[in-house]
Amino acid sequence: MRSCLKEVEVFIGVGSNLGDREKNITQALKFLQDTPGVTIEKVSSVIETEPQGGPPQSKYLNRVIKIKTTCSPQELLRVLQNIENRLGRVRKERFGPRTIDLDILLYGERTVNEPNLKIPHPRMWERDFVLTPLLEIEPGMRSKIEEKKQLTKRREND
Ligand code: AMP
Repeated sequence: MRSCLKEVEVFIGVGSNLGDREKNITQALKFLQDTPGVTIEKVSSVIETEPQGGPPQSKYLNRVIKIKTTCSPQELLRVLQNIENRLGRVRKERFGPRTIDLDILLYGERTVNEPNLKIPHPRMWERDFVLTPLLEIEPGMRSKIEEKKQLTKRREND
């Protein structure tokens, strides 16, 4: 009985660097909007970013969205992977180019540590292409973002 479940605030990172990048992102958001149990609350601006890691590839368009959902973390992951598949994503190599990439960044206050799903997203605090749009739509998160960024940098330097 999904309607009885509590809604949770979730942040999702969206990226595309293959094909019509803007269209891919718009279509992904439309599929998400049409998903039962999902309401899109806020959408950041689109930013163009250099690829980080992986093979040489073209620039990304990125944005972060905030949704409210009654889906569990695993249900939401399935929803996002289904959207990636519908948009023709082919998984060839890690960090390789992609028509669409949808990552669960934060799921309320929850921590998830399952083989196929880690929340908070393990690499989000080192990625400006995530943190800049996240801060735009959730300015109240500034101190948390700064703290996590510093922690990540310190760990890298150790
Ligand atoms: P990617 O190639 O970046 O889309 O990574 C996809 C893989 O990351 C999938 O197999 C997911 O099961 C896994 N994964 C782990 N944590 C997350 C997360 N927070 N959001 C999305 N995918 C995740």
